[in-house]
Parts: sequence; C-alpha cells; structure tokens
Amino acid sequence: MQDLHDEEFEKTNCLNCANCCKTTGPLFTEKDIIRISKFLKMKPQVFIDTYLQIDEDKDYVLQQVPCTFLLPDNTCLIYEQRPKACAEFPHTNRKKFHQITNLTQKNVAICPAAYNIVEKMQEKIK
Ligand code: SF4
Ligand code: SF4
Repeated sequence: MQDLHDEEFEKTNCLNCANCCKTTGPLFTEKDIIRISKFLKMKPQVFIDTYLQIDEDKDYVLQQVPCTFLLPDNTCLIYEQRPKACAEFPHTNRKKFHQITNLTQKNVAICPAAYNIVEKMQEKIK
C-alpha cells in the first residue's frame, strides 16, 4: 500500500483538486486546536467558538464546508499547522490500512487518488 500510495501521489497535484477540503472536514484533536489557535494568535476557546462544533461522535469538527481555511487557489491558510487528519488524508499509507475499510469506502468517493490506489490494490490482489 505504501508503494501504491507513493506512486499515486507522485503524479497527483492536490492543488488541482482540494475536493477533500471542499466536501468534507477533518476532526480536530486537542493538540490540533492548541497548535492552530496559537498560530492564529487566538485563545483555544475563541478558536473553538469561532470555527468548530461538536459532532454526533463528540469530536470537534468544522462548522462549515468547504473548510474555512481553504483559500481560492486551493492552498491551505494553516497548511504547516493543519489538523493531523488533514495531513494523513486519504490514509492509504496507514500501516493498519485493512482496519479502516469503512473509512476508505467513504474516501474513495471523495478522493480521486484514493480511488486509483484502491483500484490498483484490487488489480494486484486478483
Ligand atoms: S481529494 Fe485526494 S487528490 Fe484531492 S486534494 Fe484531497 S487528498 Fe488530494
Ligand atoms: S485545514 Fe487546510 S488541509 Fe485541512 S481541510 Fe482545511 S484547507 Fe484543507
């Protein structure tokens, strides 16, 4: 999976896509919130009140999609400090990839790179 992931992302320019940032939001861990609010020079609680809400799984998520931090040229305003979930998306190089089948099913619908990686994986399995 690591090789398939690397091969796909060598030829994928996420700046031509940004579909993940446009259609789904990451969850924000406590560490993400502290790091990003510091970067934005906001108190963590002000950051939460301004941008986040709690979802049905009791996770902090964005109040809106497309993501507030997505800029018109598809770059990310907080790229260096972005949530861990964004940095790891679409999770196709996870060591325990086989344990996230449900998540991958959702991600292939969003991410053309994840779709291609899973297609290639299926070809290899055949
Ligand atoms: S949806 Fe996939 S290909 Fe598109 S920007 Fe996100 S990670 Fe990159
Ligand atoms: S924080 Fe950045 S990388 Fe994450 S969804 Fe928003 S714009 Fe995309």
